[in-house]
Amino acid sequence: MKFKRKKEEIITPYTIEQCNSCNAILKRKFKEGDYVFKKTDTCSSCKGQMSIAKIFGEVSA
Ligand SMILES: [Zn+2]
Repeated sequence: MKFKRKKEEIITPYTIEQCNSCNAILKRKFKEGDYVFKKTDTCSSCKGQMSIAKIFGEVSA
């Protein structure tokens, strides 16, 4: 027997940025135009170049 989900699941997309120098990881909400390997901001700790490592979706309640 299977149950149907009552609510529709809402997927919130997130972007993971990683610093190329110190490997610091920053998780933030996905923005329009994001894609994997895109160069983004400079790292807040070492001023190195950050780029997008991963984009994924999380189910929010
Ligand atoms: Zn860094």
